[in-house]
Amino acid sequence: MKIAVLPGDGIGPEIVAQAVKVLNALNLNLTMTEAPIGGAGYEAAGDPLPDATLQLAKDSDAVLLGAVGDWKYDKLERHLRPERGLLRIRKELNLFANLRPALLYPELAGASTLKPEVVSGLDLMIIRELTGDIYFGQPRGISTLENGEREGINTMRYNESEIKRIGRVAFDIAMKRNKKVCSVDKANVLETTELWRQVMIELSAEYPEVELSHMYVDNAAMQLIRAPKQFDVMVTGNIFGDILSDEASMLTGSIGMLPSASLDANNKGMYEPSHGSAPDIAGKDIANPLATILSAAMMLRYTFNDEANAVKVENACKKALAQGYRTADIATEGCHLLGCNAMGDAVVAALN
Ligand code: NAD
Repeated sequence: MKIAVLPGDGIGPEIVAQAVKVLNALNLNLTMTEAPIGGAGYEAAGDPLPDATLQLAKDSDAVLLGAVGDWKYDKLERHLRPERGLLRIRKELNLFANLRPALLYPELAGASTLKPEVVSGLDLMIIRELTGDIYFGQPRGISTLENGEREGINTMRYNESEIKRIGRVAFDIAMKRNKKVCSVDKANVLETTELWRQVMIELSAEYPEVELSHMYVDNAAMQLIRAPKQFDVMVTGNIFGDILSDEASMLTGSIGMLPSASLDANNKGMYEPSHGSAPDIAGKDIANPLATILSAAMMLRYTFNDEANAVKVENACKKALAQGYRTADIATEGCHLLGCNAMGDAVVAALN
C-alpha cells in the first residue's frame, strides 16, 4: 500500500507528522513517501505542484495532504500560488467525490454554537460532487450586450453518468452506515436537478436496503441547523455541497476536528483536514492534529478497505478526548492541555 505524503505549508508538516506517527504505530505494510506541494513546491521546484509530486501521487494508492498556503505567497502570479497546486492535483487525479463527515464527540458538544442536545452525538456524512455543475459548465463568462450593458453567464450542467457516479458513492457509503440517503436538489425550479432527482430514484432500485429521501436545498440548509441528527448520508451537487458542507462543519464548532476525503472512481483518494494551513500558529506546536489523524482513518476505510483499523484510530482519538486531553483550539476548563506533537503521542498511546 503506497501513500504519497504531502505536508504542504504552515502547520501542514506538524499535523501530517502526527498522522504518519499513528499510521506507523498500526504496523501495517505501508510505504510512505514525502513530496512538496503548495508553497513548499514553489520553493523546491518553482511550481506549486512539481512534476515529481504529481507523478508520486499518480503512482500511489492514496495521498495524505496537510494544507497549502501562506500569506507570503499572495503576491505571486495566480498560476504559481499554493492553492493552484491543490486544485490541479484534484483535477489530475479525477477526484469527483468529496466526503465530509460532520461528527461531534459528546465531549466537545460545548464547542458548537448550537445547543448541546441538538448536536451532541451528531454523525453526518455530506457527499459533494466535485468536478461538475455550475463551477465547470460551459458557456460561461462576462460579455457585453448590444446595449452596452455587461452580462455574466454560468451554466449548471450534469449528465446522467456524472449523477449516477456520485449517487453510487452515496449509496455504497450509506450501506456501511445507517442506510439512509438524503439527496438534495432544487428540482422544483432547476431542470438539471430535476434530472438529478430522477437518476437518484432510478439508482435507488439497485439499493433496496437504503432509504432514499429528497430535500430542496433551501429546506436542507434550514434542517441542518434545526435538527441535524435526522441525516445519515446527504448527497448533492457541487455548488449546493460547497455551501452545505461548510454549514455542517460549523455544527461541530471546531475546525481542527474535521477530516475529509476526495475519491476517484476506483476509491483512490486524497485525504486532508478541512481546515487550512493556519500560518498564524505554524511552527508553535499548538495546532490540533486530530482532523489529519481522522483523515488517515478515512484513508484506511475508503481506499484500503480496512474498517477495523479505521475504527481503531477513531476510537483512539475519542479515548484521548475522553481522557481530557485537548489542544488549545478545543480547550475547556480543567482539561489537560497538550501541544500538537504530544496530542499525536496521546492518540498513539490510546491505540492500545
Ligand atoms: P485556516 O483554516 O488556515 O485558519 C482559520 C483559523 O483556524 C486560524 O485562526 C487558525 O489558526 C485556526 N486553525 C486552523 N486549523 C487549525 C488546527 N488544526 N488547529 C488549531 N487551529 C486551527 O484558514 P485561513 O486563515 O483562512 O487560511 C490560511 C491559509 O490557508 C491561506 O493561505 C489559505 O489560502 C489556506 N487554505 C488552505 C486550505 C487547504 O489547503 N485545503 C483550505 C483553506 C485555506
